[in-house]
Amino acid sequence: MFRRFAWVLCALAAMLLMACAHAAYTNRSQLLLISEGQETALGLQSAQDVLKKEKESHDQFQTERVKRIGWRIAAAANKPEYKWEFHVIEKDNTVNAFCLPGGKVFVYTGILNLTTSNDELAAVMGHEIAHALLRHGGERMSVALMTQMGGQAASIALGTAVSPAASQVFGQAYGIGSQVGVLLPHSRAQESEADEVGMILAAKAGYEPAGALKLWRKMDAYAKSKGQNAPGWMSTHPTTEDRIAAIQAKMGPIRAKYYQAAR
Ligand SMILES: [Zn+2]
Repeated sequence: MFRRFAWVLCALAAMLLMACAHAAYTNRSQLLLISEGQETALGLQSAQDVLKKEKESHDQFQTERVKRIGWRIAAAANKPEYKWEFHVIEKDNTVNAFCLPGGKVFVYTGILNLTTSNDELAAVMGHEIAHALLRHGGERMSVALMTQMGGQAASIALGTAVSPAASQVFGQAYGIGSQVGVLLPHSRAQESEADEVGMILAAKAGYEPAGALKLWRKMDAYAKSKGQNAPGWMSTHPTTEDRIAAIQAKMGPIRAKYYQAAR
């Protein structure tokens, strides 16, 4: 019994040693029990599920708009191993967007209709792409693995193939299965990191960072108008005065450093 316990402890210690990583751009410490390759494989698998279940928009103008902005942000992200794709999903009552690990980006017509300018749409896409680049999904999966599965996590984390158990946790982390594309809430740290890095990406791509401020004010007003039952993006992205103030504080330096250089 003791020997078995010692083995589990050793496996956990090895995992934690392997798992200490730092987020790109911000250098925040992260717990990552799965590799980026595993995360990408799960992302590609989920993207196929989303495309099977959801209806793509036939609006050529909006689809081209999302692709044009997406490719510019993708160039700024400088992630050649990603297989970028940009899809518009026809669902006017779904105010949602997300980017799966590996670079599959989905924008619902519900959020698209709310973004009046390209700067605002670039803020949405930059924010979602930042979550993927910073491996926030992998981080949430790792926390879920640690807390839900205990010892079993070792076999998933140390293996190279994508196991059914890893796939299940990925589904939970992304809320895929029950409600396609609706993410479980990110942590506050992940949200502010995605706000900052999303603004950097959009600015590098040539979009005015003030778009983020307009977007979040609009989202805040929209969420308030819907009360507690705010759908999709709003329920996973709490908008507060603090958050808007933080965006406002970062906007000036990001504009000076990245947006002006991109023009
Ligand atoms: Zn977010």
